[in-house]
Amino acid sequence: MPTTGYRSQGVAAAVALVNAVTVTGDDGDEALRALLREHGFAWREFTPEEAGLYRDWARTLRPFFEAAELADAVALLNELLLRIPMNPHLSVHDGHGLHLHYAPPSAGLLARFRASTLMWLAALVCEHGLGRTGVCAAQGCARVYADTSRAGRRRFCSESCANRTNVAAFRARRRM
Ligand SMILES: [Zn+2]
Ligand SMILES: [Zn+2]
Repeated sequence: MPTTGYRSQGVAAAVALVNAVTVTGDDGDEALRALLREHGFAWREFTPEEAGLYRDWARTLRPFFEAAELADAVALLNELLLRIPMNPHLSVHDGHGLHLHYAPPSAGLLARFRASTLMWLAALVCEHGLGRTGVCAAQGCARVYADTSRAGRRRFCSESCANRTNVAAFRARRRM
C-alpha cells in the first residue's frame, strides 16, 4: 500500500534528522537540505535561522526515542501535538497518491515537517507502543532507530551495529 510507504518514509526522516543532529553532527545547512530531499520533503531554500529550527526539532524528538516508559513517550507526544499547529487535509502532488497533510495548507516546509514527523511517530506508538523505536542496542552507539517492517524485531540502528554486537557476543561465549 503506497500510504504505508509514505508514512515509513516520514518516520525515517525523523530518525535521520535526530541522528544527524544529536549523534553524527552531520547537520550543516547543505546536509540538512540533502536529508529532507532524500526523505521526500520537496527541496526548498531555507534560511540559517530555519536550519537552526530543524536542529531544535531533532533535539525535541530525541527524548521520545530514549523514553523507557510508554507514559513518558505519550506525554511528550501529547505536549507537542498541542503545541505544533495542525490542520489535517487531503492532498495529491508530485506523483504521490491521495494522502493526509497534517499542517495547515498555508504552512511552510518546516511546519509541515514537524507536523508530519509528529503524526507518524504518534501513529507508530498507537500501533506498537515503544516496541518499534529506541536507541541502538550496540555498545557505544547512540543512534536512534524506528522499525516499520512487518516483523518489527529490530534493536539496532544498522546492520553493521547488529553484526558487530553478534560477533562480540560470540567471542564472549567462546572465552567462557
Ligand atoms: Zn504530501
Ligand atoms: Zn548503532
